[in-house]
Amino acid sequence: MAIEPTSPGDIRMPEEFSRLRELAYNLWWSWTPRARGFFSAISKPLWALYRNPVQLLINIEPHHWQGLLDDGGSVMSEYRRVIRDFDRYMDPEAETPFKKQYPDYKGGPVAYFSTEFGLHESLGIYCGGLGVLSGDHAKAASDMGLPFVGIGLLYRNGYFRQNIDNDGRQHHLFHEFDFYRLPLRPVHTASGRNLVISVEYPGREVKARVWQLTVGRVKLYLLDTDITENDMADRPITSQLYVRGRDMRLCQELLLGIGGARILREMKIKPAVWHMNEGHSAFLLFERLRELLKEGRTWDEALETIRKNTAFTTHTPVAAGNEAFDMELVEKYVASSAKSMGVEAGRLLDLGKSYPGGGAQPFNLTALAVRLSSYSNGVSKLHGEVSSDMWRHLFPGARHEDKPIKAITNGVHVATWLGHDIRELVEDTLGNDWQEHCCDPEFWKGVGKIRDEDLWAAHLHQKDRLIRLVRHRLVEMFARHGNSPDEMREVSRMLDPNVLLIGFARRFATYKRAALIFQDYNRLRAILKNPERPVHILFSGKAHPADQPGQELVRHIFNIAYHSDLRGHVFFVEDYDIRIARHLVQGVEVWLNTPRRPREASGTSGMKAAMNGALNLSIADGWWPEAANGRNGWTISDGRHFDNEEMQDYEDSSSFYHLMEDQVVPAFYGNRKNGLPMDWLAMMKEGMATIIPAFSAARMLEDYARNAYMPLAGGK
Ligand SMILES: *Cc1c(COP(=O)(O)O)cnc(C)c1O
Repeated sequence: MAIEPTSPGDIRMPEEFSRLRELAYNLWWSWTPRARGFFSAISKPLWALYRNPVQLLINIEPHHWQGLLDDGGSVMSEYRRVIRDFDRYMDPEAETPFKKQYPDYKGGPVAYFSTEFGLHESLGIYCGGLGVLSGDHAKAASDMGLPFVGIGLLYRNGYFRQNIDNDGRQHHLFHEFDFYRLPLRPVHTASGRNLVISVEYPGREVKARVWQLTVGRVKLYLLDTDITENDMADRPITSQLYVRGRDMRLCQELLLGIGGARILREMKIKPAVWHMNEGHSAFLLFERLRELLKEGRTWDEALETIRKNTAFTTHTPVAAGNEAFDMELVEKYVASSAKSMGVEAGRLLDLGKSYPGGGAQPFNLTALAVRLSSYSNGVSKLHGEVSSDMWRHLFPGARHEDKPIKAITNGVHVATWLGHDIRELVEDTLGNDWQEHCCDPEFWKGVGKIRDEDLWAAHLHQKDRLIRLVRHRLVEMFARHGNSPDEMREVSRMLDPNVLLIGFARRFATYKRAALIFQDYNRLRAILKNPERPVHILFSGKAHPADQPGQELVRHIFNIAYHSDLRGHVFFVEDYDIRIARHLVQGVEVWLNTPRRPREASGTSGMKAAMNGALNLSIADGWWPEAANGRNGWTISDGRHFDNEEMQDYEDSSSFYHLMEDQVVPAFYGNRKNGLPMDWLAMMKEGMATIIPAFSAARMLEDYARNAYMPLAGGK
C-alpha cells in the first residue's frame, strides 16, 4: 500500500532565488538547455542523482545557497538570464504562432485525453511511443500557444522498470512515486480544499484527487485514486500503467474518460474540441452523452452534438493495441449509468460493437471512438489507408475507395530530442531563433552550411556521451549478476567510438521483429566482426509483463549479446526509458527499424535519430516512406510484400544484409578525407535538412489545428 506522501510544505530558498520554485514546477526546463544547465550548476551531485528540479530544491542544504550567493555574481546573472527567457516564453501577450494564424479565435481549449504522457524520465507516467508522442504533443501545443488542456492518470507505480538477470530473463520492478517530490500540485477548489471528483462503479463511488502538471503554457490534469476517501480495494486503480487485469484496465479507462470529463466540468473549462488520443479515453463519450440527455436532448441529437466537436486518433493496426473488453464486463460497469440516462444498456453497448448487428463480440473502444468522432485519423499516410480499410464498415455509405480515416503523420518535439552539440551547431549556423522556423524546409537547407569537421566533432561528442552511459549501465548490471572487478574492467574497453554503431530501441512487441537481423547468424557475424570494418549494434527495450513472446525476444538477444561469440559486438542496455532513448538517438550512426509492414503505424524514434544526424535503415513502414528520398537513409526491401511471414522475414533480412554489405558499411568507412567520412556526412546533412522540418511536432500541431481542431471548433 502507498507510503504517505511528503507533506506539501513549501520548499525553502533565499528570496534572491525565489522564482526557482516556479521554474521547477514548469517542465519548460526539460527542453531548455540553459534552465537545465542552471539547475545542474546549483548542485551537480543532486542533479545527477535526481534529474528532477523539485527533488533538487527539496534536498539542497541551506548553507549551500549562501555559497551560491557569495560566488561573485555569475550564478545570479545566469539565474536572471534563465528567468528572463522563461518570462519571455510565458508572456501572455507574446505573438504566438497560434495568434498569428488564428487571430480571431475566441473559443475554448482543445481537451486532449491520453492514458500516458511521456514528458521526462523523472515522471514515470509513460510506457512507450504513444506516451512520448502525447508529451511531445503537449510541448508543441505550448510552443504554438494553442489553447490546450491535457487529461490523464497519475500512476502511483507507473510502468515497470526492467532488470535482466544473467540468463536473460526480464524482471519487473515497480517503484513508488512520491507525488510531492515531482513537479505536481494538487488542484484546489475555490474553498481551498483538494479537488476530488467521483465516478460511479457497481455498488460504490470511487473518488479521485486531481493533480496539475504544468508544461510551458499548458496544463495537464491527472487523476489519482490512491486517497484515504477510497476503499482499500479501489485505491490501486491508478497504480499501474497498462495493468494486465482486464477488469482493472476497464476501471482505469472508465476513470480516465468519465472522471476526465468531470474534471473539466468541475473546473468550468468548456472545451471547444475533444481529442481522444487512442481509444483508452473513449468512455468520455458516455459522460457527455449522459449530460446531453439530462439537458433534454434526444438520443440522436446528443450523438450529433458530440460528433460535431470530437476528434480521434488511432495509433495502431495491431489488434491487441485496439482496446476491447468482454461485452458482459462492460455491461456490468455501465448498467447503472444507462439507468441514470434513462436508456437501455444495450444502446450504449451497441456503440462499441466492431460490427453492427448481432453475434457475440467484444466492446471495442476504437469502434466507439470512430463512431462518435467527426474527424478520425491515423498517424502516417500509410497508416491512414490501412485504418480506413480496417474501419470503413463503420461509415455508412462509404465506398471502397473512400478514405474515411484521415492521416496526420506524427512528429517529435525537436527541442526535446536534439542533442546538446548538434543543437549548438544549429544555433551557430542557422541562428538562435531556429524554433520559429521549425517547419520551414528552406530554412533547414541551411544545414548544408555546417562545416564537415564541426558536424563530425559534434556527432562524436554525442556518441561519446552515449558510450559512457552504456558502460556505466553495463557495470551496474554485471555487478548485479555477480561478475568480478576484472570482468567488469572489460567494459571500459567495450564500444570503440571509431566503430560504426547501430541502434535498435523500442518496445519489444513482436511485430517490431527485434531479432530479424539474426536470421542468418553467420552472415551477420561476418558483417559485425569484419576486422577492417567492424560494426556494433546496441539494443534496448522492454516487453510488456504479459507478453511472453516479447520477453523471449529480450532473452534471445540478451544471450547473443553476452553469451555468444558476438559478445563485444552486440549490446543490450536494460530499462529503456526516455533518458536512454535520448542518448541513443543522439549518439548512434544508424537507426535500425524492422517492423512487419504495415503494422508500425508511424514510429517516431527514427525521426529523433535523423534530427541528430543518424541515418535510418528501415522497412518501408509508418513514417519512413514519406521521408526516404534515397539520399537520407536506406529502405529495407522497399515494400515488397509476401503473404507468408517466413518468406517476408527471409526477404527483409536478406535485404538488410545486402544493404549493410554494399552500402552502409562502405559509406561509413569509405571516402575518408582527413579522417572524415565524406559520403556519410553528406547523407547526415540531407537527413537533418529534410526530416527536421517535415517531422517536427510543430508541423504536426499545425496539421491538427488546420485539419481538425479549428474546423471542429467552428473557427476557420
Ligand atoms: C520515441 C520513443 C518511443 C517510440 O519509438 P518507436 O520508434 O515509435 O517505436 C518509445 N519509447 C521511448 C522511450 C521513446 O523515446
